[in-house]
Formats: sequence, C-alpha cells, structure tokens
Amino acid sequence: MIRILIVEDEPQMVTGLKDNFEIEGYQVDVAKDGESGLKKILDGNYDMVILDVMLPNLSGFEVCKTVRKKGDSTPIILLTARGEEIDKVLGLELGADDYITKPFSIRELIARIKAVLRRREDSELFKSKSKSVTIGKLEVNFSAYNAFDNSGQVEMSHKEFEILNFLWSKRNTTVSRDEILRIIWGFEESPTTRTVDNFIVKLRQKIETNPNKPQTILTVHGIGYKLIG
Ligand code: CA
Repeated sequence: MIRILIVEDEPQMVTGLKDNFEIEGYQVDVAKDGESGLKKILDGNYDMVILDVMLPNLSGFEVCKTVRKKGDSTPIILLTARGEEIDKVLGLELGADDYITKPFSIRELIARIKAVLRRREDSELFKSKSKSVTIGKLEVNFSAYNAFDNSGQVEMSHKEFEILNFLWSKRNTTVSRDEILRIIWGFEESPTTRTVDNFIVKLRQKIETNPNKPQTILTVHGIGYKLIG
C-alpha cells in the first residue's frame, strides 16, 4: 500500500487529490498547513508527499528544506503556482523530487508520482548492484548485467536481470507477484501476474540445478516468490 501525504490548505484541491489518489489505491493522509505537514513528514512513514508551496505557517519550500536538512529522504512533489519558474528551480534545489504547476491534470500528477516512485526503487536497486553474487548455480553481476555458470556465460534478458535483482534485494522474504509487477513493469503497462510466472520459469531454468525442484526461487503459494540467498 502506497501512503501519500497531501500538504495543502485549499479544501477543494485537497478533496480532488484525495478522491483521485484513493481511486488509484493510495492511502491518503492530509495536513492543512506547513507546520503540521512538516511534523507529519518527519513522524510518518510516507512513500510520497504532495507539498503545496503556498501554505500557512511555513511555506512548502521551508518544509522541504527542513525535511532534507534532517536527513529525511521521503519523496516530495511540489505544487507550484503558474509562472513561478524561479520557484520551481528553487524547489528542486531544496531537494524536491519533482514539481507540478497549477492548474494541472490529475492524470499528469499521478504519472509524476509513479515516475518518482519508480526512480526511487531503481536507485535502491542500483545500490545493490556492485559485485558478483552467487544465486543458485549462477554467478551474477548486476552492474555488468552478466551471469555465468560452470559452463560459461548464461544469456539473460534485461527483464530477467531486473526481476532477479529485485528478488535478490528482497532475498529470504516473500515477494508478491503484484509487487514484482509494480516494480519491474511500473504502473503504466499492465501485464498479468501470469507474465511474472513465465519469467520465473525462465529464471529457474538458468539458476536451479533442477528447475523442476527449485531450491533457490521458491513458490509461496497464493502470494508469490521467495529467493533463498
Ligand atoms: Ca495553498
């Protein structure tokens, strides 16, 4: 469940955003001024903050700056007013992940949210890409996108690497098919969970000593998969 905090003082804007976010399946929380927004961001564990610049008490810029100063990296998208070009630049310099100018379409905002979430996931995956790791019978180097077994290099598609990297980053815990879809395919495309299963079959053929009796990528019935590592 993605948790979003809206920090905005205009009731109509709040209602519009909240309704649409909930339709999107997000869990929504609201703060109506800068001060309480700041407190919520620092206390809460949000996946995303939609932060208006024009707020009572503390401006969105000040909130953003303080959040980053405290070492909190919660993703923030700023809502700026039309014509605030300088403000946009300032916002990004203060550590916002993106901004959108009012008036905007809700679809555009949701697309931005998805893009920011995706970027964050990617950079977390990137951190795990450093040297070779042993997964089943493979030696995998995620940063070089190559994999070897005893007989030499094993061909793997980009998607296969991404899925394997994700499972590896979550190794020894169960990852749902939906989570894999969301992280690897993003929100835009919508292949079915069957697609995930097909990729797992392919990965097992390369990783497992006996693909019919997987020891490395286990099926967690009714949920998804668990990589043992
Ligand atoms: Ca406002």
